[in-house]
Amino acid sequence: MPELPEVETIRKTLAPYLPGKEITGVEPRLAKAFRPDPETFAREVTGRRITGLSRRGKYLILSLDSGKRVAFHLRMSGRLLYSENPSPPPKHTTLILRFKGGEELLMEDPRKFGTVHLFTGKNLPPGLAALGPEATEKKEALANLRAAGERRKAPVKTILLDQTVLAGLGNIYTDEALFLAGIDPSRPVNQLSPDEWEKLYTAIRRVLTEGLAHRGTSQRDYVDGKGEPGTHQEYLRVYGRRGKPCPVCGQPVSYKRVAGRGTHYCRFCQQ
Ligand SMILES: [Zn+2]
Repeated sequence: MPELPEVETIRKTLAPYLPGKEITGVEPRLAKAFRPDPETFAREVTGRRITGLSRRGKYLILSLDSGKRVAFHLRMSGRLLYSENPSPPPKHTTLILRFKGGEELLMEDPRKFGTVHLFTGKNLPPGLAALGPEATEKKEALANLRAAGERRKAPVKTILLDQTVLAGLGNIYTDEALFLAGIDPSRPVNQLSPDEWEKLYTAIRRVLTEGLAHRGTSQRDYVDGKGEPGTHQEYLRVYGRRGKPCPVCGQPVSYKRVAGRGTHYCRFCQQ
């Protein structure tokens, strides 16, 4: 699933192209992906001009000259692809936006979990409205993590994945951050010391910064807005490396389920 570094990389690759574009054609192809519904979406978006492109958590947001906005959540396998010379759309296409100059923005999604939300300023989609601070905003993020640690007993990984606590982390960067901080993913969150929170947050910042510098992790489906893969998969320390040597102690990387998610960790380095 695209996480903060991947969605931010998509935003950066689309930013030179989308603002200013006039949308002349809207083709919703997967009805269940649209909020409120594909008909409203097509009616409200056709003929509008894109005025801005931003990101919040794992949502990518287009602003339109009508004041309405469109939020994309790519979930498991969604891709947003911009093309100046469109070819026939792939089989699992959720949406095609066509622009005046013949270019298009296409949302492809083989697993069909991605969503497209049309909304106005006051009426945010529930998932977007509930987001906690951006994982990159140190003061707010660390305060929210600590507060969650005081009132909850869930495994630390559960808290890191909770988008209402911290916006932007998913399975990959969570496993990587917990490894760097030397914390077992299943530790109850109320057992973490102030030092450990500090260490964990430093690790979160570091893995996100690295992921951004490498233009995202293309372990499975992810590519940027121009179809190019990232390279962070070449730098992962534990994620996806079950049975391979831990980069610190050399013992095989372990795997278990935490927070309902497949979790990679080193049982020697993470206490
Ligand atoms: Zn180790």
